[in-house]
Amino acid sequence: MRAEIKVSGIVQGVGFRPFIYRTAVKNGLGGYVRNRGDAVVEIVVEGDEGNIVQFLEDLEKKKPPLAQIYNITTDYKKEEEGFNEFRIKKSSGEAKLSGSVIPPDVSICDECLRELRDPQNRRFNYFFITCTDCGPRYTITRELPYDRPNTTMQEFRMCAFCSGEYRDPPNRRFHAQTVACPKCGPKAYLTSNSGEPIECKDSIREAGRLLEEGYVVAIKGNGGFHVATATTKTDPLARLRQVKHRKQKPFAIMAPDLETVRSFAEVDSWEAELLTSYRKPIVLLKKSSDYYLTELVSPELHTVGVMLPYTGLHAMLFDDVEEPAFVMTSANPPSEPIVTENNEAISKLGSTVDYFLLHNRIIAQRCDDSVVRFHKEDPCLIRRSRGYAPEPIQTKFVSDRCVLAVGGELNVTSCILTENRAFISQHIGDVENLETLRFMKKSIDHLTKLTNSKVEVVACDLHPKFTTTKLAQELGNKLECPVVQVQHHHAHAAALMAEWNVEEIVGITCDGFGYGSDGTAWGGEVLYCNREGFRRLGHLESQPMVGGDLATYYPLRMVAGILHRKMDVTEWLLSKSHYLPHEKREAEVILKQLEKGSTPETTSCGRVLDAISALLGICYERTYEGEPAMKLESAVLKGKDRLKLAPRLNGKVLETTFLVHEIFTKKDRFSVADLACSAQSYLARGLAELAVKEAERLNVKHVGFSGGVAYNEHITSIIRKAVEKAGYRFLVHQKIPAGDGGTSFGQAIVAGFQKR
Ligand SMILES: [Zn+2]
Ligand SMILES: [Zn+2]
Repeated sequence: MRAEIKVSGIVQGVGFRPFIYRTAVKNGLGGYVRNRGDAVVEIVVEGDEGNIVQFLEDLEKKKPPLAQIYNITTDYKKEEEGFNEFRIKKSSGEAKLSGSVIPPDVSICDECLRELRDPQNRRFNYFFITCTDCGPRYTITRELPYDRPNTTMQEFRMCAFCSGEYRDPPNRRFHAQTVACPKCGPKAYLTSNSGEPIECKDSIREAGRLLEEGYVVAIKGNGGFHVATATTKTDPLARLRQVKHRKQKPFAIMAPDLETVRSFAEVDSWEAELLTSYRKPIVLLKKSSDYYLTELVSPELHTVGVMLPYTGLHAMLFDDVEEPAFVMTSANPPSEPIVTENNEAISKLGSTVDYFLLHNRIIAQRCDDSVVRFHKEDPCLIRRSRGYAPEPIQTKFVSDRCVLAVGGELNVTSCILTENRAFISQHIGDVENLETLRFMKKSIDHLTKLTNSKVEVVACDLHPKFTTTKLAQELGNKLECPVVQVQHHHAHAAALMAEWNVEEIVGITCDGFGYGSDGTAWGGEVLYCNREGFRRLGHLESQPMVGGDLATYYPLRMVAGILHRKMDVTEWLLSKSHYLPHEKREAEVILKQLEKGSTPETTSCGRVLDAISALLGICYERTYEGEPAMKLESAVLKGKDRLKLAPRLNGKVLETTFLVHEIFTKKDRFSVADLACSAQSYLARGLAELAVKEAERLNVKHVGFSGGVAYNEHITSIIRKAVEKAGYRFLVHQKIPAGDGGTSFGQAIVAGFQKR
């Protein structure tokens, strides 16, 4: 009997061919296995029917840990070719099926880590130790099929030892494309900040020592450069903040192990599980009460973003030092993508660092670290990138068209939806400059090829001026396919529907800004959404943004605009004018603008949170996205909802002037923490009440919460409580980002919902 089998899924780069080889030999079958250009694995087996059946059963049940099988097709044939053995055949470029893909980068496995520490092992102290179960995948792959010549390991010719392992079926590195050793593989070296090589015996551990001493070192990893420094000293971080023009934005850190993390942060079991998983994202943890790292790591926040070493190189950095953690922040010039090339690094980062720790392996795809926080045990993905991309999100919903979605303007990702799988790209960033746009185009191209997709429709935001909207038009012309524009909050709500496989939803979508279908600025919305489209059911009260975008950066402007509706703000604003960049002069202009009353307005929830934050003196200037609202959330921790303000609904509009005015009048009688808590609670209860009323009226069973504000644990938990108490099912994102990193997914879903 002969069986021709095709396996689709994540089956290349996960040790699948070696596994098939062993399984076929075990079952006494002849034939071959090979990779194809569409990420599919093709198998031909010949032998007794019973053995083939057993083989197929083993294939599904005993597959390698990282493999994911989407589909297996088997054609039985009577005629045999008479194979007298089973072998791994040279890959074919054949690409017929779409929807399979290679895995994300996988962090170093325990076995490799053990060998790294074993003086008897050939790869003792070798930073680029990997095997079939671990190592970079996505970031080294230039094209498919996944074979060494198609990766950036191509330049490294295997030595006799490594190729012996590569050809030895029982070996862990049998057919491991990244196999390498100190003799034949990539090499790490230390240089000065101008790229002059520095002689030393152990460049990686030397870099660790330099970090501990307080130097700033740019370190090349798998998907790009990090800038690193010590975390217990103030000076290096202060210097880093100054040269990077990052006044307040929190830096992620890396600690050697869980035990050390526990010395400065609280780690719940589910957080520990993800921190140590093969994905190894940055996890936002609560600082412990005896937190002892410098406050400059994450100023005025109750959380700190921590990850564990995910390569041999990272593990070795900590070997000779006492420092409990190093800052590890993506190295990128302002609003440009993460740096990946050695020369580029030296020219762009040379003036901001003291040393470089480089290696000579090229990075094919850049990929930033992922960021996750937990609300109790529910994961919230803030950035879905390394360790996740390009693994698809599987939905129950099946699109009959292949959609390419390009996201919005900030924290952009792209997404390809084919049938029931959505492939979300790595984090691209803010697509406002040419470098990032170029990166975006390259990554779309790569993702299309990897998944062998034929795009039939392009989806983008409704905003006429977004760079991505223009890009979508360009792509639509090039690919000769229609372009679907999707309202920002509609995309968020549709994403929730698809993630939870529900037919309709009342979705609360709150964030900083989204272009509304009426052309105004939205951001505190209650929507009805089903497969046909969406309706705006209610929203926060529209508030003036005095000075337009300036009100985003200086939230005192929001406060002035809101309070102005109830009172004369002249005296108050003048007393606060030293918090504005141009002080009194600026305050006077604001007052004039308020009198004239011709300012743009927004229903954004983010802007109201910003206003509360500034009103309470928590944050007067936004130096990074979400800063005032994040600091407000941190302030809430010690507070109680003492005001217990009853939500004021004016029809289907939740009043926010009332809220801000109440906080203003009571600010001398209650603590900042209590007022912060009361304000957030008011918004959460009000939005929940509005959504529940509408769900009741429309007889909808599900109420969801999406948008960047959904990262706020306090607000989310209050909405959840109210929604569940009213008897509705409450849905939040667990697999895709609630913020704008998830917009491309939502856009793709909306376009996929549309009938041809
Ligand atoms: Zn390994
Ligand atoms: Zn070797």
